[in-house]
Amino acid sequence: MASRKAPAGAGSGLAAAGRERERERAHLELAELGPLLEEKGDQAEDPPCPAAREEEEEEVVRVLTLPLQAHHAMEKMEEFVYKVWEGRWRVIPYDVLPDWLKDNDYLLHGHRPPMPSFRACFRSIFRIHTETGNIWTHLLGFVLFLCLGILTMLRPNMYFMAPLQEKVVFGMFFLGAVLCLSFSWLFHTVYCHSEKVSRTFSKLDYSGIALLIMGSFVPWLYYSFYCSPQPRLIYLSIVCVLGISAIIVAQWDRFATPKHRQTRAGVFLGLGLSGVVPTMHFTIAEGFVKATTVGQMGWFFLMAVMYITGAGLYAARIPERFFPGKFDIWFQSHQIFHVLVVAAAFVHFYGVSNLQEFRYGLEGGCTDDSLL
Ligand SMILES: [Zn+2]
Repeated sequence: MASRKAPAGAGSGLAAAGRERERERAHLELAELGPLLEEKGDQAEDPPCPAAREEEEEEVVRVLTLPLQAHHAMEKMEEFVYKVWEGRWRVIPYDVLPDWLKDNDYLLHGHRPPMPSFRACFRSIFRIHTETGNIWTHLLGFVLFLCLGILTMLRPNMYFMAPLQEKVVFGMFFLGAVLCLSFSWLFHTVYCHSEKVSRTFSKLDYSGIALLIMGSFVPWLYYSFYCSPQPRLIYLSIVCVLGISAIIVAQWDRFATPKHRQTRAGVFLGLGLSGVVPTMHFTIAEGFVKATTVGQMGWFFLMAVMYITGAGLYAARIPERFFPGKFDIWFQSHQIFHVLVVAAAFVHFYGVSNLQEFRYGLEGGCTDDSLL
């Protein structure tokens, strides 16, 4: 067997050394990436390694020059990507995650390793890990709102007073919901791809929440202030300015870090709570009874409670905070928050549909004693 001590001029010695290095490299790769990959199916690349070769191994490592090491690192990455591409990865504990994947230290196990392959990320939708629940809650929510949106758009025009205008108004709500939910499930799917991809998609995810809130305001303000175009326009403009500000804040790189979890909950809570002003306006102008009956305030109050509960659980990381490691896969705060977002958006749609029906019942008439 040729060793690195063979004379430099010996051609056959060099070729043998090359083969040797090749085997060493494969062995080293597996030793380093082993914890991230499944054992099964690895036998082919793991040649039997006689104990006598151990000393030589160390020597080979020592003589590796820098460019060679860089080349090996590249090859190692390629090999890893290939295995991940094949779906041969396994979940890993929180403490071995790279910093950019460390988000919630109460989820102790079941994390996906970094997988710089979109194919692998999308295939992981069908595997069980810390993000499975987050992906599916918003993937199913996305399908639900896409269907509801299509059904609403296809509704015969005879059910609307001003079909085009009203469909645009509902369309804004569905656009916000569909964008928010799709950005969200996409973010949770590709979150483990790489630092850059995770950062880009987290910005989209947060922007989506702002879009959902802005979109939700549109039909609510449209039907609640049906006969008062001026306050309607003012409130709509304010929520747009606040929403766009939230989107701008979400582009800040540090916004997505665990340190700013409360800031995030606060920004979106504040955006949602800006609805308190038009609610007060409506209630003072029309009285509490009309606000709760005709104004559907009960439903909107329930919607607000759901959003606030979701944001609170998200910020405080309840329940996993009290039982670290027990909610790694199911029922972690983020999943509960996701479910509450979908439920709240649905309750909002129901409330807004009732408002639409009421205005249709009045045949869109605005009289002096009618609502606003
Ligand atoms: Zn999420």
